[in-house]
Amino acid sequence: MLNTTHHDAIVVRGGRVIDPTTGRDGIVDVAIDDGVIAQEPHGNAFVLDATGLIVCPGLMDIHVHLREPGQAHKETIETGTAAVAAGGFTFVACMPNTQPALDTPDVIRWVIARADEVNHCAVAPVAAITQGRRGRELTDFAALKAAGAAAFSDDGTGVEDDAVMRSAFERASKLDALLIQHCEYRAISAGGVMHLGEVSRRLGLPGLDPRSEEAMIERDIDLCRRTGARYHVAHISTAKAIELVRGAKREGLPVTAEVCTHHLVLTDEACSEADPDTKMHPPLRPQADVEACRRGLLDGTIDCIVTDHAPHSAEEKAAGFLKAPAGIVGLETAVGIAARAMIDDPPLSPLCKGERRGVADWPQLIAWFTTGPARVLRRRAAAVDVGARADLTLIDPRSPWVVNPSEFYSKGRNTPFEGWTLTARSVATIRGRRIRRLAPVVGTA
Ligand SMILES: [Zn+2]
Repeated sequence: MLNTTHHDAIVVRGGRVIDPTTGRDGIVDVAIDDGVIAQEPHGNAFVLDATGLIVCPGLMDIHVHLREPGQAHKETIETGTAAVAAGGFTFVACMPNTQPALDTPDVIRWVIARADEVNHCAVAPVAAITQGRRGRELTDFAALKAAGAAAFSDDGTGVEDDAVMRSAFERASKLDALLIQHCEYRAISAGGVMHLGEVSRRLGLPGLDPRSEEAMIERDIDLCRRTGARYHVAHISTAKAIELVRGAKREGLPVTAEVCTHHLVLTDEACSEADPDTKMHPPLRPQADVEACRRGLLDGTIDCIVTDHAPHSAEEKAAGFLKAPAGIVGLETAVGIAARAMIDDPPLSPLCKGERRGVADWPQLIAWFTTGPARVLRRRAAAVDVGARADLTLIDPRSPWVVNPSEFYSKGRNTPFEGWTLTARSVATIRGRRIRRLAPVVGTA
């Protein structure tokens, strides 16, 4: 288990506090009294040495699969949220492609109650748009929202029927609900196991046409324009798709988008070994699309970074590239991979004239994991502010570590990043009076 301790008073000493909400960036001690950020701690505080660490608001990931109810062999709310905390997140939105689907108020309430019981992080379930995620009859949006649904999505699949999606937009507009779309027309993508292009042809593997993603975004932006409902593109992955969102934002439409960590660092070349842990939907794309994803973040077209954490069992992934289910785990590598993509790595090609290394800085990166996702869900991001409930993440930005899936808290070991050396990593979260630290335990003074 994560090393978890409780304290009435805590001082996080000597860390670099970065808070995108307040714009603060500097070395300062953070005092926590009875779970609330205070001017000074009461009496005998537990001192956490954060020298060399970044202290920021708790990170948010608005796209994870916790697999319960019904698929506990892949992940449970307990193991999934432990992985959430180990990855440095204090809030996640979980997707409804469970068994049964998250399509009734009862099952929404069950997920929230179970997550509260386990208490590793805050969990906001995303309810299904259609009953059973079958793409036909809409769910009861009002009742689901009242039960605690953060948004609506049939994620795992897109809503393909035009009339059904139009009614979803109309209903969402009345309730000011957010629609999150997994953009994929299976009529176009059917049979594809990786991006359709040069690499799929070379490998002789069935390709998945990127039009399946772009065509659905096009239709949905049109529906957004007609109805005014808030619309969010899940795991955007092609240059053309990003251009569509850019246009919609320019038009002033309430459209937002997220990108997955893996789509920022891996191209379809990673599928060359036909390793099932490089199979996902949407698939890994060519270099030009990876660059477009990075640029989309930098110019604000893409609002946030997510993991699309999608655990599968080893047996399922052993079925081979053609038959294995799509998806990879991502929570415990997210900070390191995102930092590598947006801060450490030389850009794939120069993004600006004269630019040599790196494209973003830590305040920017943290915003993509805090204020960005908060804006999408219209929630408040945590703030490192006196009077706020403690909701913090501690990141070590420069201690190389090697990704070893057998150390994951998630049940899923399906990562393409095994053996990668990353430099950044979350080392602890603090929620209220509770500190969760990764082993090796962060120093106390
Ligand atoms: Zn999806």
